[in-house]
Amino acid sequence: MEQIFFVSEEQRAILETVRRFVEQEVRPRAAQLDASPDPADGFSWELVEKAHELGIRTMTLSEKWGGLGTDSLTTAMVIEELAKGDIGVSVIFAQTLKIAQIMEKALSADQQARVLPKFSSDPRGMLAIGITEPDTASNYFLPYPAPFRTSAQKTSGGWIVNGMKHFISNGNRASFYLLFAQTEAGKPLAEGSTCFLLERGRPGFTIGRVHDKMGERLANNAELVFQDCFIPDENVVGQPGKGFPVLAQFFPQSNAYAGATILGVAVALHRKAVEWAQVRVQGGKPLIEHDGIRAQLAEMRMLIDASRSYIHRACWLADHQEHGWDKTLGALPKAMAAQAAWKIATWTMEIHGGHGYMKEFGIEKLVRDAAAFLHSDGVNRTLFLKAANFMFKD
Ligand SMILES: Cc1cc2nc3c(=O)[nH]c(=O)nc-3n(C[C@H](O)[C@H](O)[C@H](O)COP(=O)(O)OP(=O)(O)OC[C@H]3O[C@@H](n4cnc5c(N)ncnc54)[C@H](O)[C@@H]3O)c2cc1C
Repeated sequence: MEQIFFVSEEQRAILETVRRFVEQEVRPRAAQLDASPDPADGFSWELVEKAHELGIRTMTLSEKWGGLGTDSLTTAMVIEELAKGDIGVSVIFAQTLKIAQIMEKALSADQQARVLPKFSSDPRGMLAIGITEPDTASNYFLPYPAPFRTSAQKTSGGWIVNGMKHFISNGNRASFYLLFAQTEAGKPLAEGSTCFLLERGRPGFTIGRVHDKMGERLANNAELVFQDCFIPDENVVGQPGKGFPVLAQFFPQSNAYAGATILGVAVALHRKAVEWAQVRVQGGKPLIEHDGIRAQLAEMRMLIDASRSYIHRACWLADHQEHGWDKTLGALPKAMAAQAAWKIATWTMEIHGGHGYMKEFGIEKLVRDAAAFLHSDGVNRTLFLKAANFMFKD
């Protein structure tokens, strides 16, 4: 059913490994982990360690650092495949794969030598990025000319960080972070912020609450709290005051990866809708033989295929920008896939009738999961506004 424009032999082999991991390890555990009352308990180190053994955790790193050097298109295929099993599992690896890919490009040679071997060899190595704050969210996506509240003040040999970040995926699980903080008071965040490399366990850096989420519960999101946390000069990524150019330059595929995650949920829902339509008999025949239902299943397929094409195009162009990269591709594919997934979630529930509302049929979890990317990686409305600003700048 799932159409991919072109898959090489190497991509096919990688996807086969990921599919087996999803079937054998993720699917059997997902419902139970999702039901954990404590939000921290939805996360499974066992799954991370299994993914490590299979090379999934580090596949975006180049061979020099122990990875497979997967490009953005292949990585998006992997992220979608993981999300067909569970969205939270997809998110924890999507974040790690994305940030590893960025670290290899954005970190200095010295920073890479300090971080990448440790990350690569640690079976529990996870990565996170801390940008969002309670008062600074859509503001950094657009960007709106206000500062981050989290500040880093210059001191001898480094910076003293105070403030907090929230909603951070892998926040309580990561060993390394990219952290954005205001280093020039009085300037807007796009001009006066700096990107820092942050290690877990640095004095003055603690984990706050683990957020209790509606869905995507196999991933943890947490607060990062900074109280006079010293970060040395050698941990500045790029230049002081140039945090935003790091975001703009090294994250082109980030939105498409988020789209691939939610697309996997849409595919899982569609499969359920088709299966149910084949077995449920009303009006004297299986639902799938009723024209209204058949047409709706085809419309779902169209939304999935079109979203995937958009995501794959964005990924390929992110890696080959000379062939026509357009900045709206860094904002819109996720919004399209998230809208498609949400529509498919409500239609799948409708096709299941009352059964869709009963937890035992598994639709309820997927509906909660399908809501996750209406807001993650930017609220859709914010992303439309961002794209419009690119389109009508002059
Ligand atoms: C599951 C999950 C995982 C996340 N992971 C991370 C992470 O790893 N790292 C990280 O840094 N962040 C992360 N985030 C944060 C995420 O990027 C923000 O939640 C998102 O940007 C929205 O911020 P907000 O919830 O504060 O909404 P707000 O910014 O408060 O927006 C609220 C509403 O106002 C609208 N709005 C805002 N500004 C404007 C405007 N100027 N004009 C018109 N409408 C506007 C928005 O579109 C939205 O509808 C995550 C969030 C979630 C939910």
